[in-house]
Amino acid sequence: MYVITENCICCGACVPECPVEAISEGNEVYLIDEEMCTDCGTCVESCPVEAIEERD
Ligand code: SF4
Ligand code: SF4
Repeated sequence: MYVITENCICCGACVPECPVEAISEGNEVYLIDEEMCTDCGTCVESCPVEAIEERD
């Protein structure tokens, strides 16, 4: 699974990169919907602050 960490600066760059629209604005940082995410990894490279990480 992929998660967005507290390093997120809420720039929104990752949102249009996700082919299944699994990323949305959260309360403090952006969020990946675990149910929708297909673990494609496309969003990782779009983040300027490396806030998207793969977790077990
Ligand atoms: S890993 Fe792929 S499906 Fe999951 S949030 Fe990132 S771009 Fe979307
Ligand atoms: S691209 Fe990175 S910093 Fe920007 S909203 Fe997405 S996770 Fe946050």
